[in-house]
Amino acid sequence: MNPTALFIRGATVVNADRQFEADVLTLGGQIAAVGPRAQAMAPSHAQHIDGSGQYLLPGGIDPHTHMQLPFMGTVTMDDFFTGTAAGLAGGTTTIIDFVIPSPKEPLLDAYWKWRGWAEKAASDYAFHVAITWWDETVHDDMGRLVAEEGVNSFKHFMAYKNAIMCDDETLVNSFRRALALGAMPTVHAENGELVYLLQQEVARMGITGPEGHPLSRPPMVEGEAAHRAIAIADVLGVPIYVVHVSCIESAEAIARARARGQRVFGEVLAGHLLIDESVYRDPDFTRAAAHVMSPPFRSKEHQEHLWRALQAGTLHTTATDHCTFCAAQKAAGRQDFAKIPNGCGGVEERMTVLWDAGVNTGRLTPSEFVAATSANAAKLFNMYPRKGCITEGADADLVLWDPEGHKTLSASTQHSKGDFNLFEGREVRGIPRVTISQGEVVFIDGELRARQGAGRYLKRPPFGPQFDAQKRRNLDLTPTAVVRT
Ligand SMILES: [Zn+2]
Repeated sequence: MNPTALFIRGATVVNADRQFEADVLTLGGQIAAVGPRAQAMAPSHAQHIDGSGQYLLPGGIDPHTHMQLPFMGTVTMDDFFTGTAAGLAGGTTTIIDFVIPSPKEPLLDAYWKWRGWAEKAASDYAFHVAITWWDETVHDDMGRLVAEEGVNSFKHFMAYKNAIMCDDETLVNSFRRALALGAMPTVHAENGELVYLLQQEVARMGITGPEGHPLSRPPMVEGEAAHRAIAIADVLGVPIYVVHVSCIESAEAIARARARGQRVFGEVLAGHLLIDESVYRDPDFTRAAAHVMSPPFRSKEHQEHLWRALQAGTLHTTATDHCTFCAAQKAAGRQDFAKIPNGCGGVEERMTVLWDAGVNTGRLTPSEFVAATSANAAKLFNMYPRKGCITEGADADLVLWDPEGHKTLSASTQHSKGDFNLFEGREVRGIPRVTISQGEVVFIDGELRARQGAGRYLKRPPFGPQFDAQKRRNLDLTPTAVVRT
């Protein structure tokens, strides 16, 4: 049987480094040719797709999602099939999700549980593994995950006290272990002790509704944790990646560290770039609660700062933290905002809202858009150029992007499960017309053809010995004991 062949004619190919006119041929699951050779090599059975007037982008990578996550006593609406299918409808062809072991749960038990859940994914996927506790078995299992399972990033929650919060002892041990293994430590930066205290103080003031949520997690709570994690990483000489940077305080902590020459990377969510904290004062409980996620949405000056940080290279990747709960689930916190399941969606809308608010406004060039939506994540988590680049030999994960196409975002038309859309009513210009995953057309002109189980688990190799900045530092300054007589 002939492998599937797609011949995409006349689009403007956009990579993170440049954009150029070229035909592209895919054969099977890979890009076979970019440029004049594409036409010469195209087999007679190739399906032709007219790309004139459109951009051809690498498929999006969302490096932060939670499909089918058991959290705060319930499970998210989107499972690995519906969530990845929604991603494909929005031009995202790869997700990196999270394995989150319960305290004392062996890492590999949790890992295999998540691998089982993810088998129905429609797009390719990988996993960060969270370190929620520490002992020698965790130390050993991190080694096995890196060497045998292709995990090269570990997540640390500095919030969620009495649940999955990491104390400094665990952070230090895990960061050092990650460094030795060539894996990237990542942090959810919020001071969990402060959140715990402030939740009780806000409740004592008689504030029990969703408006209490941002009051219990002010920006400095995030800034403190970001700074602490970055400082620990600096002492140990390990690179660090800060997930969902939502405020000036943590963006500045990253900027300061980078100015000192430290290798620190930042992620920003589409929601934090576009939505402000006024949503929590909505008189309708259901709508206000639907926006409860951590860190919370911030006041408008933080959004402007986040855009500038993305433009300036302080922030590198865009994600969604896609983690959907319906109104009935959110109602668990009707009497107490601290009991509202934390999470919002966005995997389907990330690319289009970022194009509309980023490229259409001149904040980002198309190449910068590609860097922020796929290439940088592929590089930081070691999937490049298999992912995040349109080049011969790369996976045929592509989006034919219509810069003039427009739509109005709504829960009533989304593919994601659930009854809420974070960007409800927003009109966007610049939408995916065709999404190609592993060389197959999985979305075209509004028709979703996602297939359950078509997605593959991606093994990501560790980084090499150059990863270890401490080694280089020790060459310059080898500590010696003072000889005393
Ligand atoms: Zn998350």
